[in-house]
Amino acid sequence: MLDAATCPKHLGARAAGSCERCGTFGCTECLDFRDFKWRCRDCLAREGLSLPSLRDRATLARAAIGATAGVDLLQSRPAGSSPKR
Ligand SMILES: [Zn+2]
Ligand SMILES: [Zn+2]
Repeated sequence: MLDAATCPKHLGARAAGSCERCGTFGCTECLDFRDFKWRCRDCLAREGLSLPSLRDRATLARAAIGATAGVDLLQSRPAGSSPKR
């Protein structure tokens, strides 16, 4: 059912998961995967935490997605290439 969810803040971006605390859906830009749980920015801020660097987040998100859905949600195609079809 997560497959049909989309990020409320990024139209067209598929939700990577939902916040463990408040249940908000979000894409990998909006959620942070920590301790095997997704947290939204609001909840992280509430806890006084900040999102890790972009590179760390991408790595974490990729691991999380691979572990849960096995779907490539990230824009993994190399820069400059245009999608075929
Ligand atoms: Zn939250
Ligand atoms: Zn988003």
